[in-house]
Amino acid sequence: MSVTVRVPAKVNVQLAVGAARPDGFHDLANVFLAVGLYDEVTATPSAGGLRITCEGPDAGQVPLDRTNLAARAALALAERHGCDADVHLHIAKDIPVAGGMAGGSADGAGALLACDALWGTGTSRDDLLALCADLGSDVPFSLVGGAALGTGRGEKLTPLEVGGTFHWVFAMAARGLSTPAVFREFDRLGEGRDIPGPVASQPLLDALAEGDPDALAATVSNDLQPAALSLFPELAGTLAAGRAAGALTALVSGSGPTTAFLVRDADAADTVAEALRASGTCRTVRTAPGPVPGATVLDG
Ligand code: ATP
Repeated sequence: MSVTVRVPAKVNVQLAVGAARPDGFHDLANVFLAVGLYDEVTATPSAGGLRITCEGPDAGQVPLDRTNLAARAALALAERHGCDADVHLHIAKDIPVAGGMAGGSADGAGALLACDALWGTGTSRDDLLALCADLGSDVPFSLVGGAALGTGRGEKLTPLEVGGTFHWVFAMAARGLSTPAVFREFDRLGEGRDIPGPVASQPLLDALAEGDPDALAATVSNDLQPAALSLFPELAGTLAAGRAAGALTALVSGSGPTTAFLVRDADAADTVAEALRASGTCRTVRTAPGPVPGATVLDG
């Protein structure tokens, strides 16, 4: 018997970052949109304790020890219910690693849901969300999907209405960027400046509710983008190539280095994707719609 859970990646259509708090974290106003690029986590009973395997183009960069977020999720759930984490977790990885699309968080949420179903532990939604928040700021959103405003470190979620499907193109970069390093660069660039408290943009929330891609394109923002570009200046060329090909807007996804391009429809997505491939400014290019549902147990 095994259980497979499919979990989407995310793009931040707004990422407002406050000054560093005394605990080193930053307060955020983070508008998440789940997009149709997925990892699948399969949980199977294992007599030999916890085991992690991974397949996919970036599998070589995924840790297979207890630092893997999927492993940490299984151990946290087992501890919560006083059982042993005798499980083999296999990750079929399609979300880029260290790409700012919450791939590790997706695997954490997927492992929680898969183990809960496999072990029959019947964890309540609230308890699952609390376990997710302990694992990382982006993990609760991977569980719920759709669109949501994240406040605090990003883990306190308010679901958002979305009035239509938005079409995206994502360009994966040749190397990753470490999220903590990008926040450190944000702090360095902001030294001596007064950084306002992060607030969600009402025009952006209205654009989402109306499903209006032009209005969304006019209001997206990412306060981490200058820091990501400072650490990875070549990303400017990728952003320019997507804009030149007709994207409504181009931005760094989360802490990067994946770049995200909002386009009008599925045809425009294909056109912009083709131009980005031809530009030679990125490693791979994918198209995906959003919003899509969060972590979902697949039948059979
Ligand atoms: P975020 O968008 O949430 O900031 P990210 O998408 O940029 O995250 P991840 O793919 O989650 O980055 O990986 C960041 C690091 O976390 C990796 O370099 C890797 O060492 C570690 N990691 C732990 N578990 C996983 C996992 N299941 N998949 C990928 N990376 C993982």
